[in-house]
Amino acid sequence: MADGWDAEKVFNSSVFGFTYDDVIMMPGHIDFGIDEVDLSTNVTKNIMIKTPILSSPMDTVTESNMAISVALMGGLGVIHNNNTVEEQVAEVRKVKRFENGFIMDPFCLAPDSTITDIDKIKEKFGYSSVPITENGQIGSKLVGIVTSRDIDFIKDRSLKLSQVMTRDCIIGYEPITLNEANKILRESKKGKLPIVNEDHELVALISRNDLKKNRDYPTASKDANKQLLVAAATSTKPKDAERAKALIEAGVDVIVIDSSQGSSTFQVDLIKRIKADFPDVDIIGGNVITARQAKVLIDAGCDGLRIGMGSGSICTTQEVCAVGRAQATAVYQVAKYAREYGVPCIADGGIQNSGHIMKALALGASGVMVGSLFAGTEEAPGNYYFQNGVRVKTYRGMGSLEAMEKAQGAMTHGSQGRYFAEDAKVRVAQGVSGAVVDKGSVKTLIPYVIQGVKHGMQDMGNHTVTELHNGLYSGHTRMDIRSGAAQREGGVHDLLSYEKRLFSVVRD
Ligand code: GDP
Ligand code: GDP
Ligand code: 5GP
Repeated sequence: MADGWDAEKVFNSSVFGFTYDDVIMMPGHIDFGIDEVDLSTNVTKNIMIKTPILSSPMDTVTESNMAISVALMGGLGVIHNNNTVEEQVAEVRKVKRFENGFIMDPFCLAPDSTITDIDKIKEKFGYSSVPITENGQIGSKLVGIVTSRDIDFIKDRSLKLSQVMTRDCIIGYEPITLNEANKILRESKKGKLPIVNEDHELVALISRNDLKKNRDYPTASKDANKQLLVAAATSTKPKDAERAKALIEAGVDVIVIDSSQGSSTFQVDLIKRIKADFPDVDIIGGNVITARQAKVLIDAGCDGLRIGMGSGSICTTQEVCAVGRAQATAVYQVAKYAREYGVPCIADGGIQNSGHIMKALALGASGVMVGSLFAGTEEAPGNYYFQNGVRVKTYRGMGSLEAMEKAQGAMTHGSQGRYFAEDAKVRVAQGVSGAVVDKGSVKTLIPYVIQGVKHGMQDMGNHTVTELHNGLYSGHTRMDIRSGAAQREGGVHDLLSYEKRLFSVVRD
Protein backbone atom coordinates (compact mmCIF):
# COMPACT_ATOMS: atom_id res chain seq x y z
CA MET A 1 0.00 0.00 0.00
CA ALA A 2 3.03 2.29 0.08
CA ASP A 3 2.20 4.52 -2.88
CA GLY A 4 4.90 6.69 -4.36
CA TRP A 5 8.48 6.46 -3.13
CA ASP A 6 10.38 7.44 -0.07
CA ALA A 7 13.02 10.18 -0.31
CA GLU A 8 15.98 7.79 -0.17
CA LYS A 9 14.72 5.98 -3.27
CA VAL A 10 13.98 9.23 -5.10
CA PHE A 11 17.24 11.01 -4.37
CA ASN A 12 19.72 8.16 -4.06
CA SER A 13 18.87 5.73 -6.83
CA SER A 14 19.60 7.77 -9.93
CA VAL A 15 22.28 10.13 -11.15
CA PHE A 16 19.79 12.96 -11.65
CA GLY A 17 19.45 16.07 -9.54
CA PHE A 18 15.84 17.15 -9.04
CA THR A 19 14.27 20.49 -8.38
CA TYR A 20 11.02 21.43 -6.66
CA ASP A 21 8.93 21.16 -9.82
CA ASP A 22 10.25 17.63 -10.52
CA VAL A 23 8.86 16.33 -7.23
CA ILE A 24 5.24 15.88 -6.16
CA MET A 25 4.16 14.80 -2.68
CA MET A 26 1.61 12.05 -1.95
CA PRO A 27 -1.38 12.90 0.28
CA GLY A 28 -1.75 11.47 3.79
CA HIS A 29 -4.90 11.31 5.95
CA ILE A 30 -6.74 14.40 7.19
CA ASP A 31 -8.28 14.27 10.64
CA PHE A 32 -7.65 17.84 11.80
CA GLY A 33 -8.49 21.40 10.78
CA ILE A 34 -6.14 23.75 8.98
CA ASP A 35 -5.96 26.00 12.05
CA GLU A 36 -4.34 23.15 13.93
CA VAL A 37 -1.30 23.26 11.64
CA ASP A 38 1.65 24.85 13.45
CA LEU A 39 4.58 25.98 11.28
CA SER A 40 6.89 26.95 14.17
CA THR A 41 10.44 26.09 13.28
CA ASN A 42 14.03 26.54 14.36
CA VAL A 43 16.05 28.71 11.98
CA THR A 44 19.17 28.18 14.06
CA LYS A 45 19.95 25.86 16.96
CA ASN A 46 18.62 28.43 19.44
CA ILE A 47 16.12 30.59 17.57
CA MET A 48 12.58 29.51 16.85
CA ILE A 49 10.10 31.48 14.74
CA LYS A 50 6.46 30.83 13.84
CA THR A 51 6.61 31.50 10.10
CA PRO A 52 9.31 29.55 8.26
CA ILE A 53 10.31 32.37 5.88
CA LEU A 54 13.45 34.53 5.83
CA SER A 55 13.97 37.48 3.49
CA SER A 56 17.24 37.50 1.55
CA PRO A 57 20.17 39.77 2.37
CA MET A 58 19.93 41.58 -0.98
CA ASP A 59 19.95 45.34 -1.53
CA THR A 60 16.66 45.20 -3.42
CA VAL A 61 14.99 43.02 -0.76
CA THR A 62 15.91 43.55 2.90
CA GLU A 63 16.49 46.76 4.81
CA SER A 64 14.71 47.71 8.05
CA ASN A 65 11.23 48.17 6.51
CA MET A 66 11.23 44.63 5.14
CA ALA A 67 12.81 43.15 8.28
CA ILE A 68 10.19 44.82 10.51
CA SER A 69 7.21 43.60 8.46
CA VAL A 70 8.61 40.08 8.01
CA ALA A 71 9.32 39.79 11.76
CA LEU A 72 5.85 41.13 12.63
CA MET A 73 4.44 38.32 10.46
CA GLY A 74 6.52 35.72 12.31
CA GLY A 75 9.46 35.38 9.88
CA LEU A 76 13.00 36.77 9.95
CA GLY A 77 14.61 39.47 7.79
CA VAL A 78 18.32 39.42 6.98
CA ILE A 79 19.66 42.97 6.48
CA HIS A 80 21.98 43.09 3.44
CA ASN A 81 25.61 44.21 3.66
CA ASN A 82 26.06 46.05 0.38
CA ASN A 83 26.56 49.21 2.44
CA THR A 84 28.89 50.68 5.04
CA VAL A 85 29.03 49.15 8.52
CA GLU A 86 27.36 52.31 9.91
CA GLU A 87 24.48 52.07 7.43
CA GLN A 88 23.88 48.40 8.16
CA VAL A 89 24.05 48.96 11.94
CA ALA A 90 21.49 51.80 11.63
CA GLU A 91 19.08 49.44 9.83
CA VAL A 92 19.49 46.80 12.56
CA ARG A 93 18.86 49.43 15.25
CA LYS A 94 15.64 50.55 13.55
CA VAL A 95 14.29 47.00 13.66
CA LYS A 96 15.27 46.46 17.30
CA ARG A 97 13.70 49.78 18.39
CA PHE A 98 10.42 49.28 16.54
CA GLU A 99 8.66 47.34 19.29
CA ASN A 100 9.60 46.97 22.93
CA GLY A 101 8.64 45.52 26.25
CA PHE A 102 10.54 47.83 28.56
CA ILE A 103 12.22 50.62 26.57
CA MET A 104 15.52 50.65 28.45
CA ASP A 105 17.04 53.68 26.69
CA PRO A 106 14.17 56.08 25.89
CA PHE A 107 14.99 59.56 24.62
CA CYS A 108 14.83 61.86 27.66
CA LEU A 109 15.14 65.64 28.06
CA ALA A 110 15.73 68.06 30.95
CA PRO A 111 13.23 70.67 32.28
CA ASP A 112 15.38 73.40 30.72
CA SER A 113 15.15 71.91 27.23
CA THR A 114 12.62 73.45 24.84
CA ILE A 115 9.72 72.22 22.71
CA THR A 116 12.07 72.58 19.73
CA ASP A 117 14.19 69.79 21.22
CA ILE A 118 11.14 67.51 21.19
CA ASP A 119 10.40 68.55 17.60
CA LYS A 120 13.92 67.46 16.67
CA ILE A 121 13.48 64.01 18.26
CA LYS A 122 10.13 63.68 16.50
CA GLU A 123 11.63 64.62 13.14
CA LYS A 124 14.68 62.40 13.41
CA PHE A 125 13.31 59.33 15.23
CA GLY A 126 9.52 59.66 15.16
CA TYR A 127 8.90 59.79 18.94
CA SER A 128 6.97 62.63 20.55
CA SER A 129 6.59 61.33 24.10
CA VAL A 130 9.60 62.18 26.21
CA PRO A 131 10.17 61.62 29.93
CA ILE A 132 11.72 64.65 31.63
CA THR A 133 14.46 63.98 34.18
CA GLU A 134 16.59 66.33 36.26
CA ASN A 135 19.64 66.07 34.02
CA GLY A 136 17.91 64.91 30.83
CA GLN A 137 19.31 61.38 31.05
CA ILE A 138 17.89 58.01 32.00
CA GLY A 139 18.95 57.09 35.55
CA SER A 140 18.29 60.61 36.87
CA LYS A 141 15.22 61.71 38.90
CA LEU A 142 11.96 61.77 36.94
CA VAL A 143 10.27 65.17 37.14
CA GLY A 144 7.56 64.88 34.46
CA ILE A 145 6.61 63.77 30.97
CA VAL A 146 5.78 65.60 27.74
CA THR A 147 3.66 64.01 25.03
CA SER A 148 2.26 65.38 21.78
CA ARG A 149 -0.95 66.42 23.55
CA ASP A 150 1.02 68.80 25.76
CA ILE A 151 2.60 70.67 22.87
CA ASP A 152 0.40 70.20 19.77
CA PHE A 153 -1.20 73.64 19.86
CA ILE A 154 1.65 75.70 21.27
CA LYS A 155 2.95 78.21 18.74
CA ASP A 156 6.00 79.35 20.72
CA ARG A 157 8.37 76.38 20.31
CA SER A 158 11.05 78.05 22.42
CA LEU A 159 9.07 77.46 25.63
CA LYS A 160 10.90 75.45 28.29
CA LEU A 161 9.61 71.93 28.93
CA SER A 162 9.22 72.75 32.64
CA GLN A 163 6.37 75.05 31.56
CA VAL A 164 4.44 72.43 29.59
CA MET A 165 5.23 69.05 31.17
CA THR A 166 2.79 66.95 33.20
CA ARG A 167 4.34 66.73 36.66
CA ASP A 168 2.17 64.23 38.51
CA CYS A 169 2.30 61.43 35.95
CA ILE A 170 1.22 57.88 36.64
CA ILE A 171 4.28 55.72 37.17
CA GLY A 172 5.31 52.15 37.85
CA TYR A 173 7.76 51.26 40.64
CA GLU A 174 10.60 48.77 40.42
CA PRO A 175 10.60 45.81 40.90
CA ILE A 176 7.81 45.27 38.39
CA THR A 177 7.13 42.61 35.76
CA LEU A 178 6.09 43.52 32.23
CA ASN A 179 2.68 42.00 32.96
CA GLU A 180 2.20 44.23 36.01
CA ALA A 181 3.44 47.33 34.19
CA ASN A 182 1.14 46.64 31.24
CA LYS A 183 -1.81 46.32 33.63
CA ILE A 184 -1.12 49.76 35.17
CA LEU A 185 -0.67 51.23 31.68
CA ARG A 186 -3.97 49.80 30.44
CA GLU A 187 -5.90 50.93 33.51
CA SER A 188 -4.37 54.42 33.42
CA LYS A 189 -5.54 54.85 29.80
CA LYS A 190 -2.30 56.78 29.18
CA GLY A 191 0.05 56.31 26.24
CA LYS A 192 3.27 55.86 28.25
CA LEU A 193 4.24 54.58 31.68
CA PRO A 194 7.61 55.65 33.12
CA ILE A 195 9.14 53.11 35.51
CA VAL A 196 11.22 54.43 38.43
CA ASN A 197 13.28 52.94 41.27
CA GLU A 198 12.88 53.66 44.96
CA ASP A 199 14.89 56.90 44.57
CA HIS A 200 12.44 58.02 41.90
CA GLU A 201 15.09 57.69 39.18
CA LEU A 202 13.86 56.74 35.71
CA VAL A 203 14.84 53.17 34.74
CA ALA A 204 12.54 52.43 31.76
CA LEU A 205 9.45 53.45 29.82
CA ILE A 206 6.63 51.35 28.39
CA SER A 207 4.31 52.33 25.56
CA ARG A 208 0.65 51.56 24.92
CA ASN A 209 1.43 51.33 21.23
CA ASP A 210 3.52 48.25 21.93
CA LEU A 211 0.54 46.54 23.52
CA LYS A 212 -1.40 47.24 20.32
CA LYS A 213 1.42 45.89 18.17
CA ASN A 214 1.50 42.79 20.34
CA ARG A 215 -2.26 42.34 19.91
CA ASP A 216 -2.21 42.98 16.14
CA TYR A 217 0.75 40.69 15.38
CA PRO A 218 0.40 37.68 17.68
CA THR A 219 2.89 35.55 15.78
CA ALA A 220 5.67 38.19 15.62
CA SER A 221 9.25 36.97 16.04
CA LYS A 222 10.52 38.57 19.26
CA ASP A 223 13.35 38.31 21.76
CA ALA A 224 13.01 38.14 25.55
CA ASN A 225 12.46 41.91 25.83
CA LYS A 226 9.75 41.80 23.15
CA GLN A 227 11.95 43.46 20.52
CA LEU A 228 11.68 42.09 16.99
CA LEU A 229 14.24 39.53 15.91
CA VAL A 230 16.57 40.56 13.11
CA ALA A 231 19.49 38.96 11.28
CA ALA A 232 22.22 40.65 9.26
CA ALA A 233 24.72 39.51 6.65
CA THR A 234 28.49 39.81 6.47
CA SER A 235 30.90 38.66 3.81
CA THR A 236 33.56 36.08 4.66
CA LYS A 237 36.46 38.55 4.53
CA PRO A 238 38.57 38.71 7.74
CA LYS A 239 37.82 42.44 7.92
CA ASP A 240 34.13 41.63 8.35
CA ALA A 241 34.82 40.36 11.89
CA GLU A 242 34.60 44.09 12.73
CA ARG A 243 31.28 44.38 10.91
CA ALA A 244 29.94 41.36 12.82
CA LYS A 245 31.07 42.91 16.12
CA ALA A 246 29.31 46.21 15.35
CA LEU A 247 26.12 44.37 14.35
CA ILE A 248 26.17 42.28 17.52
CA GLU A 249 26.71 45.38 19.66
CA ALA A 250 23.67 46.92 17.94
CA GLY A 251 21.60 43.93 19.07
CA VAL A 252 21.44 41.73 15.97
CA ASP A 253 20.11 38.26 16.80
CA VAL A 254 21.69 36.20 14.03
CA ILE A 255 24.74 36.71 11.81
CA VAL A 256 24.38 35.28 8.30
CA ILE A 257 27.68 34.73 6.55
CA ASP A 258 26.91 35.41 2.92
CA SER A 259 28.93 33.45 0.41
CA SER A 260 27.90 31.58 -2.72
CA GLN A 261 30.41 28.78 -1.98
CA GLY A 262 30.48 28.29 1.77
CA SER A 263 33.28 25.77 2.04
CA SER A 264 36.22 28.15 2.36
CA THR A 265 38.99 28.80 4.86
CA PHE A 266 37.85 32.43 5.13
CA GLN A 267 34.40 31.36 6.28
CA VAL A 268 35.69 28.74 8.72
CA ASP A 269 38.05 31.30 10.27
CA LEU A 270 35.34 33.94 10.54
CA ILE A 271 32.85 31.57 12.20
CA LYS A 272 35.50 30.53 14.73
CA ARG A 273 36.49 34.11 15.42
CA ILE A 274 32.92 35.34 15.97
CA LYS A 275 32.11 32.30 18.12
CA ALA A 276 35.20 32.86 20.26
CA ASP A 277 34.26 36.48 20.95
CA PHE A 278 30.46 36.08 21.07
CA PRO A 279 29.59 32.46 21.92
CA ASP A 280 25.92 33.35 22.47
CA VAL A 281 25.25 34.80 19.03
CA ASP A 282 23.91 32.34 16.46
CA ILE A 283 25.57 32.13 13.05
CA ILE A 284 24.03 30.84 9.84
CA GLY A 285 26.79 29.65 7.50
CA GLY A 286 26.61 28.94 3.80
CA ASN A 287 25.87 28.54 1.10
CA VAL A 288 26.25 24.80 0.72
CA ILE A 289 24.74 22.15 -1.54
CA THR A 290 26.68 19.03 -0.50
CA ALA A 291 27.14 17.17 2.78
CA ARG A 292 30.92 17.59 2.37
CA GLN A 293 30.58 21.39 2.39
CA ALA A 294 28.09 21.22 5.27
CA LYS A 295 30.58 19.23 7.37
CA VAL A 296 33.18 21.99 7.06
CA LEU A 297 30.81 24.66 8.39
CA ILE A 298 29.22 22.46 11.06
CA ASP A 299 32.68 21.52 12.33
CA ALA A 300 33.55 25.24 12.44
CA GLY A 301 30.60 25.79 14.78
CA CYS A 302 27.74 27.30 12.76
CA ASP A 303 24.21 27.12 14.21
CA GLY A 304 22.32 27.00 10.93
CA LEU A 305 23.02 26.38 7.24
CA ARG A 306 21.81 28.03 4.06
CA ILE A 307 21.36 25.67 1.12
CA GLY A 308 21.44 26.68 -2.54
CA MET A 309 23.85 27.48 -5.33
CA GLY A 310 22.64 28.84 -8.60
CA SER A 311 18.96 28.15 -7.96
CA GLY A 312 17.96 31.76 -7.35
CA SER A 313 15.80 33.57 -9.89
CA ILE A 314 18.51 36.13 -10.67
CA CYS A 315 21.45 33.69 -10.61
CA THR A 316 23.75 32.88 -13.48
CA THR A 317 26.25 30.91 -11.38
CA GLN A 318 25.47 27.51 -12.91
CA GLU A 319 25.75 28.99 -16.39
CA VAL A 320 28.93 30.96 -15.73
CA CYS A 321 30.85 28.66 -13.38
CA ALA A 322 29.29 25.27 -14.18
CA VAL A 323 28.93 24.63 -10.45
CA GLY A 324 25.71 24.20 -8.48
CA ARG A 325 22.98 21.68 -7.83
CA ALA A 326 19.29 21.21 -8.45
CA GLN A 327 17.62 22.62 -5.36
CA ALA A 328 15.36 19.74 -4.19
CA THR A 329 18.32 17.34 -4.23
CA ALA A 330 20.58 19.87 -2.49
CA VAL A 331 18.00 20.45 0.25
CA TYR A 332 17.41 16.74 0.84
CA GLN A 333 21.08 15.73 0.92
CA VAL A 334 22.35 18.58 3.08
CA ALA A 335 19.43 18.62 5.54
CA LYS A 336 19.73 14.87 6.07
CA TYR A 337 23.39 15.27 7.01
CA ALA A 338 22.90 18.41 9.16
CA ARG A 339 20.07 16.76 11.10
CA GLU A 340 22.56 14.39 12.71
CA TYR A 341 24.18 17.44 14.33
CA GLY A 342 20.95 19.27 15.18
CA VAL A 343 21.73 22.08 12.72
CA PRO A 344 18.62 23.53 11.02
CA CYS A 345 18.77 24.26 7.27
CA ILE A 346 17.32 27.13 5.26
CA ALA A 347 16.46 26.39 1.62
CA ASP A 348 17.68 29.50 -0.19
CA GLY A 349 16.67 30.46 -3.74
CA GLY A 350 14.23 29.27 -6.35
CA ILE A 351 11.08 29.67 -4.22
CA GLN A 352 8.34 30.84 -6.57
CA ASN A 353 5.17 29.87 -4.68
CA SER A 354 3.74 28.27 -1.53
CA GLY A 355 4.08 24.81 -3.10
CA HIS A 356 7.84 25.26 -3.30
CA ILE A 357 7.95 26.22 0.38
CA MET A 358 5.93 23.11 1.22
CA LYS A 359 8.31 20.92 -0.78
CA ALA A 360 11.42 22.51 0.77
CA LEU A 361 10.05 21.79 4.27
CA ALA A 362 8.95 18.29 3.27
CA LEU A 363 12.49 17.56 2.02
CA GLY A 364 14.09 18.50 5.32
CA ALA A 365 14.47 22.30 5.34
CA SER A 366 13.43 24.12 8.51
CA GLY A 367 12.70 27.32 6.61
CA VAL A 368 13.07 29.00 3.25
CA MET A 369 14.84 32.17 2.17
CA VAL A 370 13.19 34.26 -0.52
CA GLY A 371 14.38 37.07 -2.74
CA SER A 372 12.15 37.40 -5.77
CA LEU A 373 8.99 36.43 -3.87
CA PHE A 374 9.31 39.55 -1.68
CA ALA A 375 11.00 41.83 -4.23
CA GLY A 376 8.47 44.27 -5.65
CA THR A 377 6.56 44.58 -2.36
CA GLU A 378 6.06 47.96 -0.70
CA GLU A 379 8.63 47.07 1.95
CA ALA A 380 11.43 46.26 -0.52
CA PRO A 381 14.01 49.07 -0.96
CA GLY A 382 13.69 51.23 -4.07
CA ASN A 383 10.94 53.12 -5.83
CA TYR A 384 8.25 51.83 -8.14
CA TYR A 385 8.39 52.81 -11.81
CA PHE A 386 6.46 51.86 -14.91
CA GLN A 387 7.69 49.46 -17.60
CA ASN A 388 5.31 48.94 -20.54
CA GLY A 389 2.44 50.16 -18.39
CA VAL A 390 3.21 47.75 -15.53
CA ARG A 391 4.18 49.05 -12.08
CA VAL A 392 7.51 47.45 -11.14
CA LYS A 393 10.53 47.68 -8.82
CA THR A 394 14.12 46.76 -9.56
CA TYR A 395 15.29 43.32 -8.36
CA ARG A 396 18.93 42.42 -8.89
CA GLY A 397 21.31 39.64 -7.98
CA MET A 398 24.02 40.55 -5.47
CA GLY A 399 26.47 39.13 -7.99
CA SER A 400 25.15 41.33 -10.79
CA LEU A 401 27.52 43.94 -12.16
CA GLU A 402 25.15 46.67 -10.92
CA ALA A 403 25.31 45.44 -7.30
CA MET A 404 29.07 44.86 -7.42
CA GLU A 405 29.61 48.35 -8.83
CA LYS A 406 27.67 49.82 -5.92
CA ALA A 407 29.92 47.89 -3.53
CA GLN A 408 32.97 49.29 -5.29
CA GLY A 409 31.62 52.83 -5.03
CA ALA A 410 30.79 52.47 -1.35
CA MET A 411 34.12 50.74 -0.61
CA THR A 412 32.26 47.89 1.06
CA HIS A 413 32.87 44.20 0.77
CA GLY A 414 29.21 43.34 0.52
CA SER A 415 28.32 42.14 -2.86
CA GLN A 416 31.82 41.54 -4.22
CA GLY A 417 32.81 39.54 -1.15
CA ARG A 418 30.10 37.02 -1.86
CA TYR A 419 31.49 36.27 -5.28
CA PHE A 420 35.24 36.57 -4.56
CA ALA A 421 35.49 39.31 -7.16
CA GLU A 422 37.07 41.97 -5.02
CA ASP A 423 40.64 41.88 -6.24
CA ALA A 424 39.87 40.47 -9.67
CA LYS A 425 41.00 42.40 -12.75
CA VAL A 426 37.93 41.32 -14.71
CA ARG A 427 34.68 41.25 -12.82
CA VAL A 428 32.46 38.36 -13.90
CA ALA A 429 28.77 38.70 -13.17
CA GLN A 430 27.01 35.79 -11.45
CA GLY A 431 23.62 37.43 -11.47
CA VAL A 432 21.36 39.72 -13.46
CA SER A 433 19.43 42.89 -12.75
CA GLY A 434 15.78 43.12 -13.74
CA ALA A 435 12.33 44.18 -12.65
CA VAL A 436 9.49 42.50 -10.76
CA VAL A 437 5.84 43.54 -10.57
CA ASP A 438 4.27 45.40 -7.67
CA LYS A 439 3.08 42.82 -5.15
CA GLY A 440 1.53 45.09 -2.49
CA SER A 441 2.61 44.61 1.12
CA VAL A 442 4.37 41.55 2.52
CA LYS A 443 1.86 41.81 5.34
CA THR A 444 -0.85 40.57 2.95
CA LEU A 445 1.45 38.36 0.88
CA ILE A 446 2.81 36.28 3.80
CA PRO A 447 -0.58 35.19 5.20
CA TYR A 448 -1.61 34.07 1.70
CA VAL A 449 1.59 32.11 1.16
CA ILE A 450 1.42 30.58 4.64
CA GLN A 451 -2.19 29.53 4.19
CA GLY A 452 -1.10 27.65 1.06
CA VAL A 453 1.63 25.86 3.02
CA LYS A 454 -0.86 24.98 5.77
CA HIS A 455 -3.16 23.40 3.17
CA GLY A 456 -0.19 21.35 1.97
CA MET A 457 0.61 20.25 5.53
CA GLN A 458 -3.01 19.22 6.04
CA ASP A 459 -3.13 17.33 2.72
CA MET A 460 0.00 15.44 3.73
CA GLY A 461 -1.50 14.73 7.17
CA ASN A 462 1.10 16.65 9.21
CA HIS A 463 0.40 19.04 12.07
CA THR A 464 3.94 20.33 12.60
CA VAL A 465 7.29 20.70 10.85
CA THR A 466 8.77 18.18 13.30
CA GLU A 467 6.13 15.63 12.30
CA LEU A 468 6.83 16.37 8.64
CA HIS A 469 10.57 15.78 9.12
CA ASN A 470 10.00 12.59 11.11
CA GLY A 471 7.87 11.28 8.24
CA LEU A 472 10.62 12.14 5.74
CA TYR A 473 13.29 10.16 7.54
CA SER A 474 11.08 7.23 8.55
CA GLY A 475 9.96 6.71 4.95
CA HIS A 476 6.34 7.54 5.83
CA THR A 477 6.43 10.56 3.50
CA ARG A 478 5.95 9.43 -0.10
CA MET A 479 6.56 11.24 -3.37
CA ASP A 480 6.92 10.77 -7.13
CA ILE A 481 9.14 12.34 -9.72
CA ARG A 482 7.05 14.03 -12.43
CA SER A 483 7.78 13.72 -16.13
CA GLY A 484 7.73 16.90 -18.23
CA ALA A 485 4.21 16.02 -19.39
CA ALA A 486 3.10 15.46 -15.79
CA GLN A 487 4.41 18.89 -14.85
CA ARG A 488 2.40 20.45 -17.68
CA GLU A 489 -0.67 18.55 -16.51
CA GLY A 490 -0.11 19.86 -12.98
CA GLY A 491 -0.29 23.48 -14.19
CA VAL A 492 -3.25 25.28 -15.74
CA HIS A 493 -3.76 24.01 -19.30
CA ASP A 494 -6.12 23.92 -22.29
CA LEU A 495 -7.82 27.23 -21.65
CA LEU A 496 -8.09 29.93 -24.27
CA SER A 497 -7.59 32.53 -21.60
CA TYR A 498 -7.71 32.82 -17.84
CA GLU A 499 -6.88 35.18 -15.04
CA LYS A 500 -4.69 33.85 -12.24
CA ARG A 501 -6.16 35.43 -9.11
CA LEU A 502 -4.08 34.24 -6.21
CA PHE A 503 -6.18 34.92 -3.12
CA SER A 504 -9.08 36.85 -1.70
CA VAL A 505 -9.39 38.03 1.87
CA VAL A 506 -12.60 36.95 3.62
CA ARG A 507 -13.71 39.50 6.22
CA ASP A 508 -16.03 38.56 9.07
P1 GDP B 1 4.63 35.09 29.41
O1 GDP B 1 5.79 34.42 28.73
O2 GDP B 1 3.53 34.20 29.84
O3 GDP B 1 5.05 36.09 30.44
O4 GDP B 1 3.94 35.94 28.29
P2 GDP B 1 4.58 36.86 27.18
O5 GDP B 1 6.05 36.92 27.32
O6 GDP B 1 3.98 36.49 25.89
O7 GDP B 1 3.99 38.26 27.59
C1 GDP B 1 4.21 38.86 28.88
C2 GDP B 1 3.43 40.17 28.92
O8 GDP B 1 4.01 41.07 28.00
C3 GDP B 1 1.96 40.04 28.51
O9 GDP B 1 1.22 40.98 29.29
C4 GDP B 1 1.98 40.46 27.05
O10 GDP B 1 0.74 40.97 26.65
C5 GDP B 1 3.03 41.53 27.09
N1 GDP B 1 3.71 41.82 25.83
C6 GDP B 1 4.03 40.99 24.80
N2 GDP B 1 4.67 41.68 23.83
C7 GDP B 1 4.78 42.95 24.28
C8 GDP B 1 5.35 44.14 23.75
O11 GDP B 1 5.89 44.18 22.63
N3 GDP B 1 5.30 45.26 24.53
C9 GDP B 1 4.71 45.27 25.77
N4 GDP B 1 4.70 46.41 26.46
N5 GDP B 1 4.16 44.17 26.28
C10 GDP B 1 4.18 43.03 25.57
P1 GDP C 1 5.24 58.63 20.72
O1 GDP C 1 5.17 59.36 19.43
O2 GDP C 1 6.51 58.88 21.47
O3 GDP C 1 4.04 58.83 21.60
O4 GDP C 1 5.36 57.14 20.37
P2 GDP C 1 4.28 56.05 19.91
O5 GDP C 1 3.57 55.59 21.13
O6 GDP C 1 3.49 56.51 18.74
O7 GDP C 1 5.28 54.93 19.40
C1 GDP C 1 6.40 54.66 20.11
C2 GDP C 1 6.97 53.36 19.54
O8 GDP C 1 8.36 53.54 19.40
C3 GDP C 1 6.78 52.23 20.51
O9 GDP C 1 6.66 51.04 19.77
C4 GDP C 1 8.07 52.25 21.31
O10 GDP C 1 8.45 50.99 21.84
C5 GDP C 1 9.06 52.68 20.27
N1 GDP C 1 10.20 53.38 20.85
C6 GDP C 1 11.47 52.92 20.75
N2 GDP C 1 12.31 53.77 21.35
C7 GDP C 1 11.58 54.79 21.87
C8 GDP C 1 11.91 55.98 22.60
O11 GDP C 1 13.07 56.28 22.89
N3 GDP C 1 10.88 56.79 22.96
C9 GDP C 1 9.58 56.52 22.64
N4 GDP C 1 8.62 57.38 23.02
N5 GDP C 1 9.23 55.40 21.94
C10 GDP C 1 10.22 54.54 21.56
P1 5GP D 1 15.26 33.90 -5.38
O1 5GP D 1 14.41 33.84 -4.14
O2 5GP D 1 15.14 35.22 -6.08
O3 5GP D 1 15.00 32.76 -6.30
O4 5GP D 1 16.77 33.73 -4.91
C1 5GP D 1 17.36 34.53 -3.93
C2 5GP D 1 18.71 33.97 -3.55
O5 5GP D 1 19.59 33.99 -4.67
C3 5GP D 1 19.44 34.76 -2.51
O6 5GP D 1 19.01 34.48 -1.20
C4 5GP D 1 20.89 34.39 -2.73
O7 5GP D 1 21.25 33.19 -2.09
C5 5GP D 1 20.95 34.13 -4.22
N1 5GP D 1 21.54 35.25 -4.96
C6 5GP D 1 21.34 36.57 -4.78
N2 5GP D 1 22.00 37.28 -5.73
C7 5GP D 1 22.64 36.39 -6.50
C8 5GP D 1 23.51 36.49 -7.64
O8 5GP D 1 23.77 37.57 -8.17
N3 5GP D 1 24.00 35.33 -8.14
C9 5GP D 1 23.72 34.12 -7.59
N4 5GP D 1 24.27 33.03 -8.11
N5 5GP D 1 22.88 33.98 -6.55
C10 5GP D 1 22.35 35.09 -6.01
